[in-house]
Amino acid sequence: MSDSAEMIRQIRKYYRLNALAVFSAMKKVPREKFVLPSYVHLAYSDNALPIACGQTISQPYTVCFMSHLLISGLKKRDKVLEIGTGSGYQAAVLSYLFKEVYTIEIIGRLAKEARKRLKRLDYKNIFVRKGNGEFGWEEASPFDGVIVTAGLYNPVPIALREQVRVGGRIIAPVGEGEDKVMLRLTKLKSGEFRKEKFGIFHFVPFVKQS
Ligand code: SAH
Repeated sequence: MSDSAEMIRQIRKYYRLNALAVFSAMKKVPREKFVLPSYVHLAYSDNALPIACGQTISQPYTVCFMSHLLISGLKKRDKVLEIGTGSGYQAAVLSYLFKEVYTIEIIGRLAKEARKRLKRLDYKNIFVRKGNGEFGWEEASPFDGVIVTAGLYNPVPIALREQVRVGGRIIAPVGEGEDKVMLRLTKLKSGEFRKEKFGIFHFVPFVKQS
């Protein structure tokens, strides 16, 4: 598959997903710049691919689906937090959909490389930090949305629940085993969350959850 428009055509057809805003964002992101040189020929296939440090860049369909879950109910002027920067690809997609994207990566080398890559590609509204996403990014909070791109165990870390505003949402794959259920949690005035479930996904594990 040669380019992002063709990749989106395939995702649209295969999954019957009507996610026009996300499709248009994904068409703008050169995924070949986010994968290892040896995988460039697969950059626009709908697959997760290895990146440095034994991690992966998520499958384009998963990026599309999670972004779609995140944007419904939110606005372009909103700001979001991503946990698990990896290559920076998901953050790049979100940068077209939101005013500011904050993203945290636990592996120093990946955080550094993603920051460099995003700067080179001229993304100005993405802020990368090395750290444990379990604690969120308090100084930049509250967030309108939080998206977790590593597989969580229950419960979703308390800092993330605290750092999202009322009416905001958390999109996260959560579960006790390898199969993670994609959740959309919407914060209610009471501080509780309304929970919606969206099928099973597989992710690299979230590290060091206490
Ligand atoms: N969103 C990425 C893919 C994520 S893979 C992309 O678009 O390329 C999951 C990433 O989460 C890995 O890079 C992993 O190192 C990171 N991660 C795992 N546990 C973490 C934690 N506790 N805090 C921050 N990042 C974490």
